[in-house]
Amino acid sequence: MEYINTQKWHLFRYNYSIQKNKKEGAINEKKLELKKLLIYAKSVYHILKKIKELTDKRARKTIPFFNLIMPVFLFLLLQYESFHTVFSAPESMRKRLRHCIRGRIPKVDDVRDGLSLTDPEETERILADTVSRIRKNAVLRGGTIGGYVTAAIDRVELFCSRKKNCERCLTRKTASGEVEYFHKSIVCTTIGNNPHLILGQDMLGPRDGTEKDEGELTGGKRLIETLYSQHGHFADVIVADGLYLNAPFLKVVLNCHMEAVIRLKDERRLIFQDAEKLFGKGEGRKEPFYREGKKIDCWDLDGFEIEGLEKELRVARYCEKNEKTGEEKWVWLVTTSKEIDHKILWKMMHKRWDIEENAFHQLKTYYHADHCYCHEAVEVIFLLMLIAFNIREMYLYRRIHGFEGSGITRKSVTRIFRDDLQAGDVRRILYLEGG
Ligand SMILES: [Zn+2]
Repeated sequence: MEYINTQKWHLFRYNYSIQKNKKEGAINEKKLELKKLLIYAKSVYHILKKIKELTDKRARKTIPFFNLIMPVFLFLLLQYESFHTVFSAPESMRKRLRHCIRGRIPKVDDVRDGLSLTDPEETERILADTVSRIRKNAVLRGGTIGGYVTAAIDRVELFCSRKKNCERCLTRKTASGEVEYFHKSIVCTTIGNNPHLILGQDMLGPRDGTEKDEGELTGGKRLIETLYSQHGHFADVIVADGLYLNAPFLKVVLNCHMEAVIRLKDERRLIFQDAEKLFGKGEGRKEPFYREGKKIDCWDLDGFEIEGLEKELRVARYCEKNEKTGEEKWVWLVTTSKEIDHKILWKMMHKRWDIEENAFHQLKTYYHADHCYCHEAVEVIFLLMLIAFNIREMYLYRRIHGFEGSGITRKSVTRIFRDDLQAGDVRRILYLEGG
């Protein structure tokens, strides 16, 4: 009797969970609302208040400073591709602008003026505060890959032109000998489980006298150190590409009590050649494992050295074979970690270079990070974009129950928010006292 009851109970639980999942799976686009996103940004992260508190250094203050910077934040959140599309296309945008700005609608030049006089450090503070707040809410607890909070660093080139137009431009020569000017930032973001969070960025500086422009390694080291001083142990693992297989960089990561996982591609590197010899003899061979229809062979050995680093490094090599097509792909990595399981290391590499799934790709493709919104305010705009990115990720993955797996695309989310702004006035949220 008891047995039957137990079975019934399980059946009931099973059916209930199916129904529940169906219900959850049925979240539709109506659940997403720009108004709720803005209320969230305002009440949890105080973004609007912080924008209001930015120092206004303009000589002529004909338009309230907030009326310049807040709409920029909002339109970056809605992933508009240029300021012209927004501020110089009054016919199609009039309603949306009216729905978010009190008083006179600023001209694109007013906006540029305001942005160029905004302090990047103050803007950076808003990003850092947002990240602190997100970390306090234990969003990263439990890790993002295999129990580890995994972050990646990479370069994001913001735009380039043949015409120099600011003091902070980096320079390079093209194949034809022409000089190109550009801006580049090193960005650190979590990878693996959603939501993805951008932890910070470091804008590379231009050459000083005869010196060269700052290199990516300089920016990478500085970024890790800054984030560590701001947030303490902000990640367990830093994933990066082959450029970062460099003793001073690895030392910075280790000094911050984190582990590095570096992709190894360059066959000329001694560590590659040393490991290849040993792997060739069958040393370090692991049991194959299976992921996504692929059989993955792995070789994993510790005890390698690079000049300038005391700690010995571990090298892992993977051969991913597609069981259907027979296609093979080799992946190599170097890590400072002795403990992380080789299957988890594989997943870290996979998540980092999975094209759709990472923040670097999103910044470029959806947020137009490589578009020049306003050359005089590259860093401020990029920072506002990163804040917008984090708020939007948090809203979708933490506030909207069942968003993950709903199949709603990022493009649809943007369309919904843009439609919302066309349809409804949000000024009461944006301008409410104390907000
Ligand atoms: Zn420039």
